[in-house]
Amino acid sequence: MTAKLILGTEIREQILAEVADEVKQIKANHGVVPGLVTILVGENPASISYVTLKIETAHRLGFKEVQDSQKVDITEAQLLGLIDKYNKDDSIHGILVQLPLPKHIDEKKVLNAIDPDKDVDGFHPVNVGRLMIGGSEVKFPPCTPAGIQEMIVRSGVETKGAEVVVVGRSNIVGKPIANMMLQKGKGANSTVTIVHTATKNLDFHCKRADILIVAAGVPGLVKPEWIKPGACVIDVGVNRVGEKVSEKTGKKIAILRGDVDFDAAKEIAGSITPVPGGVGPMTITMLMKNTLNSLKFKLGI
Ligand code: NAD
Repeated sequence: MTAKLILGTEIREQILAEVADEVKQIKANHGVVPGLVTILVGENPASISYVTLKIETAHRLGFKEVQDSQKVDITEAQLLGLIDKYNKDDSIHGILVQLPLPKHIDEKKVLNAIDPDKDVDGFHPVNVGRLMIGGSEVKFPPCTPAGIQEMIVRSGVETKGAEVVVVGRSNIVGKPIANMMLQKGKGANSTVTIVHTATKNLDFHCKRADILIVAAGVPGLVKPEWIKPGACVIDVGVNRVGEKVSEKTGKKIAILRGDVDFDAAKEIAGSITPVPGGVGPMTITMLMKNTLNSLKFKLGI
């Protein structure tokens, strides 16, 4: 059996088209567009390329996009002052502080200073609490887990009563996706197990999974024999395992591998995400959706 591919590159286009339509309608009916500010401190090359992609996507959707680039020696107080400015700015509905921040700045203090109602990354403790409560309390599900759930739902995989096993317990992927999948409601209602570095018999748990979500950051951790035949496998891992020359640009690019042995796993799974082209493109997509939703909450629509 060869698994159906769940492609983030395709699902992204569906969601972005829906967001763009809604932006047009809201602009016509209410005269406003979603506003997103990205605060970038310093010149970390990975952060710059990620932020560039965010800006391009926001422009494509007709958002107001503010790129606020700050020098690496900005003080913590100055950065907190900037956040306060955007918290009070009515044309801004989403505030994003690109991580990592320089060492002299307390990351937690900065993220906690963002108005929870503009925290489109969903990392503020208030939004983590809202996610835990679930249902209508949830405003901004964190972007990567939200993207994973969309991929599962849009590829028609049954989640109600499904055994979901999540490998990894980070605050940005493992814990939130586990929490989202156990909530009562559409695209969830699953029986969830979280496994991690201290789990005994990882293979035993993975083999029980109807939906296996792997976010460990260990290339090839999940072996094909750990996969239940027909299971849905979501590989969140993005691991640089080498470099190659791009056929398109002639430049050196990273060779990326997931946490699952893809070639063998696709012969056993029912559906599977590739790396790259799977979960990766979903994070920015869901950031745009959260920013649109922030405006909708404000307008009460
Ligand atoms: P993390 O390092 O914060 O957490 C990894 C988790 O995996 C930990 O909880 C750890 O307990 C668990 N783990 C590690 N090794 C394990 C092992 N051998 N057995 C069992 N559990 C193990 O990482 P993260 O931020 O959650 O990211 C995980 C992976 O997902 C990384 O490869 C990261 O690059 C990728 N990622 C991708 C996206 C995206 O595609 N948009 C977004 C976020 C993270």
